[in-house]
Amino acid sequence: MRRLRNVKIVATLGPASSDYDMIRKLFEAGADVFRLNMSHGTHEDIRARHAIIRQIEADTGRPIAILADLQGPKLRVGVFANGSEDLVEGATFRMDLSDAPGDLNRVQLPHPEIFAALEPGATLLVNDGKIRLSVNECGPDFADCTVSVGGTISNRKGVNVPDVVLPVAALSDKDRKDLEFACAIGVDWLALSFVQRPEDVIEARELAKGRAAILSKIEKPAAVKAYDAILAVSDGIMVARGDLGVELPVQAVPPIQKRLVRGARAAAKPVIVATQMLESMIESPVPTRAEVSDVATAIYEGADAVMLSAESAAGQYPIEAVTTMHNVAISVESDPVYREIIEASRKAKRTTVADGIVAAAREIAEATDIKAICCFSQSGTTVSLVSRERPRVPILALTPLMETARRMCLTWGTHCVLTEEQDRFKGAVISAARAAREEGFATESDQIVVTAGVPFNTQGTTNILRVAPCDERLIHRVDPE
Ligand code: ATP
Ligand code: MG
Ligand code: MG
Repeated sequence: MRRLRNVKIVATLGPASSDYDMIRKLFEAGADVFRLNMSHGTHEDIRARHAIIRQIEADTGRPIAILADLQGPKLRVGVFANGSEDLVEGATFRMDLSDAPGDLNRVQLPHPEIFAALEPGATLLVNDGKIRLSVNECGPDFADCTVSVGGTISNRKGVNVPDVVLPVAALSDKDRKDLEFACAIGVDWLALSFVQRPEDVIEARELAKGRAAILSKIEKPAAVKAYDAILAVSDGIMVARGDLGVELPVQAVPPIQKRLVRGARAAAKPVIVATQMLESMIESPVPTRAEVSDVATAIYEGADAVMLSAESAAGQYPIEAVTTMHNVAISVESDPVYREIIEASRKAKRTTVADGIVAAAREIAEATDIKAICCFSQSGTTVSLVSRERPRVPILALTPLMETARRMCLTWGTHCVLTEEQDRFKGAVISAARAAREEGFATESDQIVVTAGVPFNTQGTTNILRVAPCDERLIHRVDPE
């Protein structure tokens, strides 16, 4: 099964997408990566969804990435007896430490450190800033507020306190437990929320011990400032616009998004644009024009992936939302202007042999009638370098490691296939040609470009570029052992 677009789609799973049939339909509609949000749902829910995704992977024969999103030091309300309540402007509402289920008058906010730091006059923002509460009176275990902007508040919605500086640790006890759980069941990516410093990423990396790649969510002003250092120690980036647009003025978000996407691409690391991309599709089968334009913009900017949050986790139209993203991607990627933008933003500086080889592979493939760039890779590093070139020709990534195949599901334009371990270049060319034919990229009369590192099985040695026929008899005739 081959996708006919380059940008990847990440779909968050939740109550609206928890059984095999639904998740399979989301995959078939175009989801390449499934996000499991550790903030919502129990370990048992997560374990069940994880097992379903792995089952779909086995049933379809296609690698699928699972991204576990750690809550981080996010402030959240507790739960409501009715699941949710509608707060109206002018009403009073209390936040307190009691774990009794919430109602129209109060809810738990299980963070004593906030109450200690609050002052009357402060503002509490709920649900990515949609609801505003103004604090009238507060003590060590409560805050009495007036609703200044109303809306629906529901279980575990996030809270931001823009006026107050809180002392926060990067990984809470819950995050450490969730991280260990996620690594133990086997996820491919771990997303870290509210990263502020490169040390936060390094700490998580030490705990993950190579079991998952690390994706930093950029949603704090401090992370925007320290972006280059954070990017250097991360395997991927998420432009987490929900909290970013609350922590900073909303109009600051688009320029930051552009900068983060460019930086990640230059570093050959995947970048996801996330939050509210098709927000109205939570309740409507069709998106607004502005939302379509937002998804398109992220793709024009060269993002590796676009993401659905509540649209696929808790909305009424999860499949329509994935289909919409897919259709927007097809439309943008066939626009000649998209090509112009992508080419103009290609990084010119090349410093390594691998950089040179992948650039040459792209040029040869684009200048002639070559059907695919086939790239042997253990860690996925060379595949990311090819992807950074954003070639017009499809990238076929070949790896003996399932973990690598899965992680690469987030990388722009790559189609990953598992191959047996290679020890001879000729054998590698034969498997590349076979994969290109079997996966529908080429026929016997076509040619492919193959990149690999010889000797095989040593990391970071990409040093061969070969233009090869897809016809095995020809390979036997022309290739030396
Ligand atoms: P984050 O700040 O990490 O993005 P979030 O609370 O905004 O966290 P998302 O995963 O972005 O969560 O959005 C999904 C929305 O769907 C949530 O706001 C929540 O209301 C709803 N939801 C309910 N249950 C789940 C679940 N098990 N997993 C994910 N989302 C859920
Ligand atoms: Mg967030
Ligand atoms: Mg969110």
